[in-house]
Amino acid sequence: MNQRTRNSGMVLGEVASSGLARGTAILCACANRITVARRVISPNEVEAEIVKLDAALAIVEDQLIDLQKKVQQSLGDQSAGIFEAHIALLRAPSLRKEIRAGCLDRHINVEAAVEESIEKLVSTFAQVEEPYLRERAADLEDLGRRLLDVLTRDQPSENPVFPQGSVLVTSELLPSVTARLDRETIRGVVVERGGQTAHATILARELGVPLLIRVPDAMKRIRTGDRLVVDGLAGRVFINPTAHILREYDRLESDLHAHRTALQTMVELPPVTSDGTRIRLSANIGKTADAPAAAAANADGIGLYRTEFVFLVQDHLPSEEEQYRIYRATAEYSKPRHVVIRLLDIGGDKPLHYFPLSAEANPSLGLRGTRLLLAHAEILRTQTRAILRLNATHPVSILLPMVGDVEDVRAVKTIIESVKAQLAAEHQTFDPRIPIGAMIETPSAAVMIGRLAREVDFLSIGTNDLVQYLLTTDRTSSTLAPYYEPVHPAVLHVLASLASTAGEKNKDISICGEMAGNPAYTRLLLGLGFRSLSVAPGELLEVKHTIRSTSMEEARALAERVLQCDTVEEIKSHLGLAHQRRA
Ligand code: PEP
Ligand code: MG
Repeated sequence: MNQRTRNSGMVLGEVASSGLARGTAILCACANRITVARRVISPNEVEAEIVKLDAALAIVEDQLIDLQKKVQQSLGDQSAGIFEAHIALLRAPSLRKEIRAGCLDRHINVEAAVEESIEKLVSTFAQVEEPYLRERAADLEDLGRRLLDVLTRDQPSENPVFPQGSVLVTSELLPSVTARLDRETIRGVVVERGGQTAHATILARELGVPLLIRVPDAMKRIRTGDRLVVDGLAGRVFINPTAHILREYDRLESDLHAHRTALQTMVELPPVTSDGTRIRLSANIGKTADAPAAAAANADGIGLYRTEFVFLVQDHLPSEEEQYRIYRATAEYSKPRHVVIRLLDIGGDKPLHYFPLSAEANPSLGLRGTRLLLAHAEILRTQTRAILRLNATHPVSILLPMVGDVEDVRAVKTIIESVKAQLAAEHQTFDPRIPIGAMIETPSAAVMIGRLAREVDFLSIGTNDLVQYLLTTDRTSSTLAPYYEPVHPAVLHVLASLASTAGEKNKDISICGEMAGNPAYTRLLLGLGFRSLSVAPGELLEVKHTIRSTSMEEARALAERVLQCDTVEEIKSHLGLAHQRRA
């Protein structure tokens, strides 16, 4: 694409957070640990970028030679040989040629050129049949990281600065980058990959700005500085749109504004069905900054406070005092309403860069959630100390993530009891009568719901994970998206049985996965027996509106019909939803 021609056109994607936005594109390769801003360079900048490249290649080569020597001394020749391969790859003319082409032909800055070239070469290697060559893909990724480390040394990593009115365009959202986005500056987000229930998507959704995911080639089609209209209703982005399109969007914006104003009338009204059943409608939040939005929408408290984001935006494990202050600030916004604080849930697609976990072939099936907390009890103890202290002044409860079975729950409860004893011995002020709940998001917990109900005070269903594990479909995968179906008959039968068993045991049960925030599913969830939903603050009023226009009789009849269905397609037709057939 000639950089002087005006870039224009339209790209399609999937709506992950609805709304309309206009703003200036800023491209950011946030998928890497190192955040690389991509920008178009002018012809007279090319030379300087190539000089930077050569310097970085030389520095990385020195680093590798140095490392090789050290490893040779400590571990011997065989281990040091690994670096031989890295050095050979680094010296290969093809790598330098590829990166140079990025600056010279595609007119992009050297950091973005490194990133693109490594990505391209990695995918070429990854497709080779010969195992030795295929494994070189990992070496290349490592080299890419080293090069970017050197090139971005003086730039604030993971903390990109976005000007006011930006639309962030990125290949993939990282939770740690998303956690730092600010709704005051970001108008919209456009992502090439991603999944509806990926953590970074959930966090971006909480920003309350239009968000499109699975927009193929967004990074190629859009350039930094392009004027964008993000249509988070129809799922499309207009690049430098014509006056005609802009006029069309003026009209749509005023319609949307009128709809939102009408929804505001819902704020003071209770979430009650048309035949009088009161539903508890609380909010999911990830940051203290989301709590005011939940309070403004008159949520019945916070049904899920994901604390991992408290950890993600730091560069160290937050101390007890730091956590206490952050949780207290959040609870203060919600007071006197209740806040369900979920214990740290890292692992899987929520890595913590300063707390590296050993590499696992299937991280989603690896050490995460409660298992991880039990393996690192110091994290569990520090966090529960902070929450128990807060419980002295604010109504909070503890929610255990990714519970596998009764043994997990008992082990955590034993640690919490010892934390209480320790706090008492220290004469700290705290309230020991804290409710403890379990997330139901693994098939094992779902099967054992009756027994788990005896161990805890309340239950909360995490459909985002439950769907991925029941349907063996990665929640972050773009390719498997047609298989990730919250209204799959298997999921709905499990949900129906969870609601019924919790009812028999007289145990509070709610749904806090993203499914609860989709108004298209509200009637069905009520019909399946749920009386408590927790949703993103931006979805509260739409869901409340649906609850208020539903009778329990209709909801039950719908659930009965749906539970007779064999396929997603049949179920969706009962819900009045379009179905995308699998390829
Ligand atoms: C879930 O899995 O549905 C859930 C609420 O937890 P998270 O999305 O944080 O994994
Ligand atoms: Mg989960």
